[in-house]
Amino acid sequence: MEIITKLPASFNESVSYIRTLKHVTITEVVEMLRGDEWGQRLMDEEASGSEKWCEFCRKKSHDTSECYSKNKKVRR
Ligand SMILES: [Zn+2]
Repeated sequence: MEIITKLPASFNESVSYIRTLKHVTITEVVEMLRGDEWGQRLMDEEASGSEKWCEFCRKKSHDTSECYSKNKKVRR
């Protein structure tokens, strides 16, 4: 849910709503914010895909999918 943390305070209403959606995807968030300046920005960021973010550690050093801490704990 890293995308939520990037949203500015001015989006409080939208963010509050989005937060109620536990399994919302970035695509859906962008869809909701479509037409907004921030929607555009999120799409640009998603398209660039350069920024890493680990939801598990909340660090930018790696992606959630690359997280060794998470992989160590999660058993499937
Ligand atoms: Zn991690």
